[in-house]
Amino acid sequence: MPTTVAAYAATSPTARLVLTTIERRDVGPHDVRIAIRYAGVCHSDIHTMRGDWGKITYPQVVGHEIAGEVVEIGSEVTRHAIGDRVGVGCMVNSCRKCENCLAGFQQYCLEGNIQTYNGVDVDGTNTQGGYSTEIVVVDDFVLKLPDAIPYEAVAPLLCAGITTYSPLAHWKAGPGRRVAVVGLGGLGHMAVKFAHAMGAEVTVLSQTLAKKADALKMGADHVFATSDRATFTELANHFDLIINTVSAELDINAYLRLLRLDGTLVNVGAPPEKLGVRVFTLFDNRRSFAGSSIGGIDETQAMLDFCGEHGIACDVEVIAIDTINEAWERVLASDVRYRFVIDIETLKAEAPAA
Ligand SMILES: [Zn+2]
Ligand SMILES: [Zn+2]
Repeated sequence: MPTTVAAYAATSPTARLVLTTIERRDVGPHDVRIAIRYAGVCHSDIHTMRGDWGKITYPQVVGHEIAGEVVEIGSEVTRHAIGDRVGVGCMVNSCRKCENCLAGFQQYCLEGNIQTYNGVDVDGTNTQGGYSTEIVVVDDFVLKLPDAIPYEAVAPLLCAGITTYSPLAHWKAGPGRRVAVVGLGGLGHMAVKFAHAMGAEVTVLSQTLAKKADALKMGADHVFATSDRATFTELANHFDLIINTVSAELDINAYLRLLRLDGTLVNVGAPPEKLGVRVFTLFDNRRSFAGSSIGGIDETQAMLDFCGEHGIACDVEVIAIDTINEAWERVLASDVRYRFVIDIETLKAEAPAA
């Protein structure tokens, strides 16, 4: 029998999120039931719910930065035990057969990975995300959380963390490499912490210098304002790697010109508009323009372990679930330092019987 659990959902692209109930499937032999403690608030939650990235099914429960505790395991589960601190990120399954899945890149599953929300699960039901009290997920898509980091500060690692860690690792941020991070939001602040811990020289490119003190505290070596045109002359042909976290249209060629020989600009921000890359800008310095999407399951675990070893956590503002609609408006206005995380106890308190 499915379990009825409390959740916050919206019923249309323009509706506010409200208290409701959803059903979670029975725990199968390979499943893990997680009591969610905290759920991070990602920009993607808002884009998805509002239909910015295409039509979705309603009512919809979003949230793919999930941290909680194992409360039930299936008969075949060996990698998790009741009481374990675990997390779930942006995907809950994949085909497991295609060449990308077999290579450990489930995020690039050729059949499309099964997203934590607004996806269709292997049993044919629609997936529903972390703005809820419980979730049931197949064991090998459940990650182990580092003991040293509180639930609320670890939750956003499951999306914002892995989204920035993966390209930094792939394009080898490290000693002797100059890395720039464009935008200091949920993604950007994690990119700075990772690149610094990996040993790179880190520069933050932010619209203004308003967050300079924060950036330096997170490990940035330099901070430049992109509203100042002189920045683009001063830093021309300078960086080995640029991580662009901005989800809005920007003059991408101006940023590409900051790459030195064989440098790469990786977009992890997802603007709905096309970016007009000028090929001649790529000819100079043999530059590359690339994209990157979250990370595979093993890499996500490696990122969490890296955070445990280096004491890396997200800077969060914990909120009660009944302020989620206002929090979304603040995310859209970039008014958060640096990630909202919902305390799921406040959802339980609203729906004690569910
Ligand atoms: Zn996300
Ligand atoms: Zn696959």
